[in-house]
Amino acid sequence: MSTSICPCGSGNLLAACCGHYHDGHPAPSAETLMRSRYSAYVLGLIEYLVATTLPVQQAGLDRQSIAAWSAQSTWLGLEVESSEVFGGQPEHAFVTFTARWHDANGEHSHRERSSFVQSAGRWYFIDPTVPLKVGRNDACPCSSGLKFKKCCAGFFGQ
Ligand SMILES: [Zn+2]
Ligand SMILES: [Zn+2]
Repeated sequence: MSTSICPCGSGNLLAACCGHYHDGHPAPSAETLMRSRYSAYVLGLIEYLVATTLPVQQAGLDRQSIAAWSAQSTWLGLEVESSEVFGGQPEHAFVTFTARWHDANGEHSHRERSSFVQSAGRWYFIDPTVPLKVGRNDACPCSSGLKFKKCCAGFFGQ
């Protein structure tokens, strides 16, 4: 078992924190998924970043640019500000956080309110940069069985 501290800032060992989710266990909340995605950027786990994005968006992700950003950045830390869980079926959540990193252009800080949805026992990141080709009255791409407008529409592109 690795004795390194988890990059997400929890203070816990990686294997007992985000490493557990990187190994395939479902993250129990949107916040733990978000933290494990930050750790995946730090550790260069590109496939994990792809796998935890809403499945219908995965083909639209640019793996090469994700990998380049992950590798060319020195990650300085994550602060989770709030986690808003809405309940209902499926469950949606917003997680507001600030990530800091350093690259060839200097130090950066990015604050974001990210959207997440739970589908079949797993939380997924709804990536606002990948277009969802779906009409408001179509079946929601999260597979909830609801119409898009009654499900993830309000959580897309925040
Ligand atoms: Zn962690
Ligand atoms: Zn949905």
